[in-house]
Amino acid sequence: MKKKLLICGVLAMMLTSASALEKQVASPNGKLVVTVNDNGGKPTYQVSLDGKVFLENSALGMNTNIGDFSQGMTMSEASAVKAISDSYQLDRIKKSHVDYHANQQVMTFTKNGKKVYDIIFQVIDNDVAFRYKLYPQGDTRCLVVKQEATSYQMPKEATSFLCPQMNPMTGFARTAPSYESNYALDVPVGTQLSRTGYTFPCLFKNGNNGWVLLSETGTDAGYVACRLMGKADGSYQIANPMPEEMNGQGSANPALNLPGETPWRTITVGKTLAPIVETTIPFDVVSPKYKASKKYEYGKGTWSWIIGMDGSCNFNEQKRYIDFAAAMGYQTVLVDALWDTQIGYPKMEELAKYGKSKGVDLFLWYNSNGCWNDAPQGPRGIMDNTLKRREAMAWMQKNGIRGIKVDFFGGDKQEMMKLYEDILIDANDYGIEVIFHGCTLPRGWERMYPNYVASEAVLASENMHFSQGMCDAEARNACIHPFVRNTVGSMDFGGSTLNKYYNSNNKSGSHRVTSDVFALATSVLFQAPVQHFALAPNNLTDAPAWAIDFMKQVPTTWDDTRFIDGYPGKYVIMARRHGDKWYVVGINAEKQPLKKRISLNMLKAGSIVNVYSDDAKLEGSKKQVKLGKKLMLDVTIPCNGGLVIE
Ligand code: CA
Repeated sequence: MKKKLLICGVLAMMLTSASALEKQVASPNGKLVVTVNDNGGKPTYQVSLDGKVFLENSALGMNTNIGDFSQGMTMSEASAVKAISDSYQLDRIKKSHVDYHANQQVMTFTKNGKKVYDIIFQVIDNDVAFRYKLYPQGDTRCLVVKQEATSYQMPKEATSFLCPQMNPMTGFARTAPSYESNYALDVPVGTQLSRTGYTFPCLFKNGNNGWVLLSETGTDAGYVACRLMGKADGSYQIANPMPEEMNGQGSANPALNLPGETPWRTITVGKTLAPIVETTIPFDVVSPKYKASKKYEYGKGTWSWIIGMDGSCNFNEQKRYIDFAAAMGYQTVLVDALWDTQIGYPKMEELAKYGKSKGVDLFLWYNSNGCWNDAPQGPRGIMDNTLKRREAMAWMQKNGIRGIKVDFFGGDKQEMMKLYEDILIDANDYGIEVIFHGCTLPRGWERMYPNYVASEAVLASENMHFSQGMCDAEARNACIHPFVRNTVGSMDFGGSTLNKYYNSNNKSGSHRVTSDVFALATSVLFQAPVQHFALAPNNLTDAPAWAIDFMKQVPTTWDDTRFIDGYPGKYVIMARRHGDKWYVVGINAEKQPLKKRISLNMLKAGSIVNVYSDDAKLEGSKKQVKLGKKLMLDVTIPCNGGLVIE
């Protein structure tokens, strides 16, 4: 009897392995390869570039309230590989025109002979995107995803560059998680850095083979925003939000109508950091959810709060900032929190009118609340309420308000994703642009929502006002964002400070340790189509004229972006093009001066360029340089210094 059982067991094993299906889908150039297997009933995938493994066998599937679809699965069929092409224009990301070529393969998985889901893979030369399409099970036409099995198994030698997810209901007025925490750099995978996981995007270095960036895109009211949980074996698994988020309101688990699709999981792979910095995958696989109700315009603005704080939100100071914006040739002023009580609605209408007379439009701050945190600043209780929100937006439209900055979301549950989407949809009805603060990472939103502008989701400039430590770490942090946070979405940082001190008197408070050229460089490095810089009216007279002149003309929208050199947390040199004008910028966070010979092969030999650079004491200057035939330039960037070539 025992023997018979054993034979049965061996037979069963043979049968499973015989029925295991393995499929490969490669990128158009054949170098990036995804291998999918259903061996043992637990689907896995593996990702390699040029024959080198970047993701080892990693789990697929999910456990739901209508069945565990992470085991007992069979790949029943795989479609033929289909070539997909798309071209699109997008005026709010790192690149205005994108040509997209992918190979698509759809793999169908069944359990007990019933079709459960397709996994749709799209593989382009440096990116993989995949999503699940789930099917009704008999009469069951909806489900709740309890736990996605999807994971990313890093090779042993890999190191991580991660930002811990914040503990729910902590931080200022219990507004976390708001994607405002510090990165830990170059940490061996498998190290437990955070019990609450990590926020997207997540960057990994695969030994000397290259880099991997993990993220997700296409997240809307139909799902939650996910995070990654790390395990000791170097795998990172998709996780739903935490139940405590939003003060415990709403479910942490996403619910789907069937058939229904999850957001896209994205993997960007490169031998260098160039494919990471230049990727457009968050936008390639999504599409606009509605039409723009008007032609939205982007540009630069001033913002009193970052230097003057709450007290500066008064009529006279806002008027002074309108004059300052006009003097800079800027299009907008961002009026921050408390305007509803410190200025009031009638005076706001007067302010908006005054702005119009100077060619300056207003952005207005709103609290997202809601009953999910304690943030006291007004206006409160408007953006979370459909009627009040639409009434407020009608008032804004009547008074020519250009946009809103909605703050203090704190939470990634499906309910919160619905609030983001509802605000965007309503705002478009009234022709209003939307910036989010204290918020989640945007996930393809620039293409999905035509009036979406940018999100904070980063330890932004305000932290330098609050803390000298953040000022001291400014260069280190600025050398991370171009490789991580800002690779997948517009980042509203509110920086490029030319004050020496974060105070209106420019004599006290936390002290900026970076150079003026550094401030200029970050205006190009940090991408967002609307920029409210941390400049102050006094900078017209106390900052170098070349710095002010540069800040007057620097673009906020880009036609192209190219990585030149850099390492997260150490230094970065990159280039962006607006029209036919290139801006090459660099910053250095390392103690020793950065000396590099860089190629400016995007320019023509003999062209004369403006070079802004720092001496050893971080004194900046501007000079003109004629480029030689080889288009090479030797550059030196001191610690906390910058470089700009235009
Ligand atoms: Ca914030």
